[in-house]
Amino acid sequence: MAKKLLLAGGGHAHMMMLAHIGTLTTEGHEVTVVQPSNHHYYSGMGPGMLSGFYTAEDIRFRTRFVVERQGGRFLLDKAVRIDAEKQCVELESGIRQEYDVLSCNTGSFVPFNDIEGENDKIFSAKPIEQLLEAQKNIIGGCSNPDLSINIVGGGAAAAEIAGNVHHLAVKNGCPGVKVRIFAGSKLMKNATPAIQRIIRNYFQKKNITIDESGHVDRIENSTVIMKNGQSHSSDFIFLATGVQPSPLFSASDLPTGPDGGLLVNEYLQCPDHPEIFGGGDCIYYEPRPLEKVGVYAVRENPILLHNVLASLQGGTLQPFDPGGNFLAIFNLGGEYGALQKGLLNWGGKISFMVKDYIDRRFMTRFQSLEKE
Ligand SMILES: Cc1cc2nc3c(=O)[nH]c(=O)nc-3n(C[C@H](O)[C@H](O)[C@H](O)COP(=O)(O)OP(=O)(O)OC[C@H]3O[C@@H](n4cnc5c(N)ncnc54)[C@H](O)[C@@H]3O)c2cc1C
Repeated sequence: MAKKLLLAGGGHAHMMMLAHIGTLTTEGHEVTVVQPSNHHYYSGMGPGMLSGFYTAEDIRFRTRFVVERQGGRFLLDKAVRIDAEKQCVELESGIRQEYDVLSCNTGSFVPFNDIEGENDKIFSAKPIEQLLEAQKNIIGGCSNPDLSINIVGGGAAAAEIAGNVHHLAVKNGCPGVKVRIFAGSKLMKNATPAIQRIIRNYFQKKNITIDESGHVDRIENSTVIMKNGQSHSSDFIFLATGVQPSPLFSASDLPTGPDGGLLVNEYLQCPDHPEIFGGGDCIYYEPRPLEKVGVYAVRENPILLHNVLASLQGGTLQPFDPGGNFLAIFNLGGEYGALQKGLLNWGGKISFMVKDYIDRRFMTRFQSLEKE
């Protein structure tokens, strides 16, 4: 029997699902994808796009085009609330979209709200589109020899943005750019000591300042004000203070994890509403909390696809196995990478080349859907 499948967000965990839409529509199912952008940006390549190493086209996937060419319906809109009892999703435009099966991949956001005064020079690490906007603005500001760029946050996204924004400014005629990372107590505290050292040494050579003297309290008129009372004026500010799951689930009457993500069981399925599935940063995986990294979203693809199909057409669900430790490569700008896998820690051009190869291969695989 023909059914209605609704995909909220076309993120990393939905890539295989998006590739499969043609088969579903041929079988008579109605497939609708809701997303606030016609494109989905691959975050792993976002910092590289910021520095100008990649173009926007290199790192984005034409979601709308791919959905529509396979007979699916694309709504340029945002899911704001799920009414699980009535099996419908309310969209920002006021539309109520019904479903038989719903799969959510609405990602995460940077929850930093302590901003007063002007904020047109403040950019967030997510959505990745913001990095493109930042790039245009910073190139425009490179005629200022004392350009000052501050990054608030101490994790991988902060380190990658710092290195790449530094490279962008130098390449565009601002060798004296002052890049400072407000890392709280310690930069990359979850990385191995060797990776921390590699990053520190590289940033020291580039004159990128790592401030570990405490946390940022607020931003007022482009000035970073710290809890210890110090203040630092900035021409541009990036916010990379960690992410929280999309607010969609806390706005709906659905079970969530402590971080507000959609609670899902081992089948990536909402325990109270078996017709709702989810993957990527927006879920809280009940068997064990997962780091908010694209690696898990990518690993979830085949299971999410299998289980959504089983739910539409009948069949047995498969459990998701998050797997063991994963390869992480940090792009520090200037084609320099820091690679971490188990006991292996390696900094240099080759690490970057490995990341570039893996990331381009991922994009080529899914961008090929735009050409078939
Ligand atoms: C700068 C940066 C670099 C990173 N680099 C890496 C890396 O190298 N490797 C790695 O493993 N991880 C990396 N990460 C982490 C990674 O970005 C996330 O884990 C990954 O993006 C999660 O994928 P996702 O599909 O769940 O979410 P997203 O990539 O955020 O995608 C969510 C999608 O849903 C759409 N959407 C959002 N809200 C709604 C809504 N309400 N309704 C409908 N659609 C919606 C968005 O438009 C988007 O297309 C990085 C993160 C950042 C910020």
